Amino acid sequence: MSVEQVERFGAHNYHPLPVTLVRGEGVWVWDDHGRRYLDMLSSYSALNHGHRHPKIVEAMKAQLDRVTLTSRAFHNDQLGPFLQKLSEISGFSRALPMNSGAEAVETGLKAVRKWGYKVKGVPKDKAEIIVVTDNFHGRTITIISYSTETQYRDGFGPFTPGFVVVPYGDAAAIEAAITPNTVAVHVEPIQGEAGVVEPPVGYLRALRQICDRHNVLLFLDEIQTGLGRTGKMWAFQHEDIRPDCIAVGKALGGGLYPVSAFCADDALMAMFTPGDHGSTFGGNPLAAAVGLAALQVLEEEGLAEQAALRGALFRQRLEALKSPKVKEVRGKGLLIGVELFVEAGPARGYCLELMKRGVLCKDTHGQVIRFAPPLVITDEEIELAMAAVAEVLT
Ligand SMILES: *Cc1c(COP(=O)(O)O)cnc(C)c1O
Repeated sequence: MSVEQVERFGAHNYHPLPVTLVRGEGVWVWDDHGRRYLDMLSSYSALNHGHRHPKIVEAMKAQLDRVTLTSRAFHNDQLGPFLQKLSEISGFSRALPMNSGAEAVETGLKAVRKWGYKVKGVPKDKAEIIVVTDNFHGRTITIISYSTETQYRDGFGPFTPGFVVVPYGDAAAIEAAITPNTVAVHVEPIQGEAGVVEPPVGYLRALRQICDRHNVLLFLDEIQTGLGRTGKMWAFQHEDIRPDCIAVGKALGGGLYPVSAFCADDALMAMFTPGDHGSTFGGNPLAAAVGLAALQVLEEEGLAEQAALRGALFRQRLEALKSPKVKEVRGKGLLIGVELFVEAGPARGYCLELMKRGVLCKDTHGQVIRFAPPLVITDEEIELAMAAVAEVLT
């Protein structure tokens, strides 16, 4: 019924698998026929804590009974504790709360541009931001202005200028693209949407050095890779570096509510003064209460460490399959991409077969199955999923 209504009354901007979910708990979801599935997509890493984590639900319910929306025209008593916790966990001294990931990215783009003009001395409207091929940072017009995916851009121009695209994973190409007007290098530590594409080892470290050498900011998008997903709290920690700023989203809302943020240190965040930038819902007390609980649960339950352990098992099992259909297994922690040979057929068919066997996941970029289960998944549940994966891939 709902499916027909969506077809009839909605815009056709998605192509979902044919399953209607009516309930979720932890790593499990149920459809409208009472069938149970392992959620191995986690809403693209927005469900790192699993569905309806009891502590986050409790925090949200408690806040629902107090006050939910105040706007930033007034103070609320939830925003402070949330920002302090985010600062402790991110290592950045300040955060600017927004709602969607795209808004956190847009906030960062504004910050680095303004820094370019006010601090670096770039001439008016000449700021350049270096980005990479196959990036995914969201769907606003400015963000798709530097997408290299034809479909994301087709029909949506004119685009925002000021972006220079170089190949992903090539640090020398970034350095070669830097001009006196370059204000930032802006990349994902691992490209999730592009098919869980990892840059060469040392890439982020090289970018850090290049940015330091040329007085350019390093702005990482940790929306999908952050908050424990890759086996560390932040993906940049795998290379022992510190970017100048990050965009955070998805799991920051604990799977309950849209919560995102742009994180930076004092000097960069000082680019924003009252009236420069804002959001009606950004930093609302409900979002702040949920965000704080989401961060506390990540820490208390050691979800980053869990992701490292469970991810190692999952990858080991995938590789042990020695499936003739599999070209490559990629990723870190519980962000795993399985690339199929073209001759094996598109990944969507495999996702449909997995669905029939009680495992939900999604194809990305034709040949890649993305596995990104909630970080609370157990070894037993991974073995369950693997039984289905083995049937489908061998
Ligand atoms: C999902 C995602 C975004 C956009 O987040 P929205 O909440 O959908 O706007 C941006 N960057 C990355 C890396 C993402 O995975």
